[in-house]
Amino acid sequence: MKHPKIVTVGVVGAGGFIGQYHLKRLSTVIEGVRIGAVYDINREKCDAIAAQYGAVSAATAEELIESPDIDAVVVTAWNAAHADLTRKCIAAHKPVFCEKPLATTLEDCAAVVQAEKEAGESLVQVGFMRRFDPDYRKIKEILKSGELGAPLMAHCVSRTPRIAPSHTTAMHVINIVIHEIDLFRWLLDEELVKGQMLFPRSTSLAAEGLADPQLALMWSESGVLIDVEAAANSYYGYDIQCELVCEKGTIRLPDPAAPIVRSRLQCGFAILDDWSQRFPTAYQMELQHWVDYVRGRVSQPGPGCQDGCAACAVAEALIRSQTTGQVESVTL
Ligand code: NAP
Repeated sequence: MKHPKIVTVGVVGAGGFIGQYHLKRLSTVIEGVRIGAVYDINREKCDAIAAQYGAVSAATAEELIESPDIDAVVVTAWNAAHADLTRKCIAAHKPVFCEKPLATTLEDCAAVVQAEKEAGESLVQVGFMRRFDPDYRKIKEILKSGELGAPLMAHCVSRTPRIAPSHTTAMHVINIVIHEIDLFRWLLDEELVKGQMLFPRSTSLAAEGLADPQLALMWSESGVLIDVEAAANSYYGYDIQCELVCEKGTIRLPDPAAPIVRSRLQCGFAILDDWSQRFPTAYQMELQHWVDYVRGRVSQPGPGCQDGCAACAVAEALIRSQTTGQVESVTL
């Protein structure tokens, strides 16, 4: 991999929610990077964004990936396009930051891992941004220090107030719980080996046919039991909670800092509306890390395609459990 002083990036899927979010950060707060080209399947959106950032509006994703003017690629397109686009970047020997999930099937993940292996260098970073969140990092430090003894179980909540009509029951796992899957592989430094999905009564706010909320249970190699309530129509706001129960104490993820407001007969703080407001530092740090890695300023790559693949394997077991109702083993 060449290490340019300033990395010229191309963004594929530039017109989406997170595409716009990353573009804004890349063009304002991330150091050592410039936007060279954008591509979105929607031509009009693509041209407008290219004009906004003074970038080339690529005619196809392949044109952007293969352009000699582009050093590295950010993939923010739909889930289903991730694996193919990432493999094309690897084939062009371009470092790629791919939003989670790396792929929607284990087979596609394995193909990306194989392609990177053949390329002989670490080219892929997956958008598991919670690893870069300062509060989760503190949790990992406390766990590592051993002061609370071994972790035994964890209780997590992932609630989002509304969801696109295209969201399916399986996407609760591959789009939502995937964050906790990666988080706990990283926090515990061990694999998750089995899992189960449970369905309570569904909210009347969910679209017809969507099971929402859902409860994920996952077990790590050493037997840590993790439960995750995943809700896509929580109505009241975006809420991420995480508490680890250890032998000698517990560790809880704090709510984001917010002023406590006392108004007539009330006292409280505002609840956020979406993911972009909840983890701004984590999104910034993950992109800065990726750019620094591409520039050769840090030697340790971020979460890579092995992590994307391992997370997908756990997700696959959970999705299997949605149909069988049983505890399913993770097969890599
Ligand atoms: P979105 O708003 O639907 O954006 C996807 C964009 O990509 C849309 O503009 C879409 O165009 C375009 N697109 C679809 N297929 C494409 C292709 N083959 N080539 C180029 N462009 C394509 O979705 P989003 O919420 O931004 O999410 C995008 C990805 O980011 C998802 O994989 C999601 O899992 C991930 N994500 C991650 C986080 C996180 O916390 N890390 C948060 C949010 C999203 P059209 O609209 O015209 O179809």
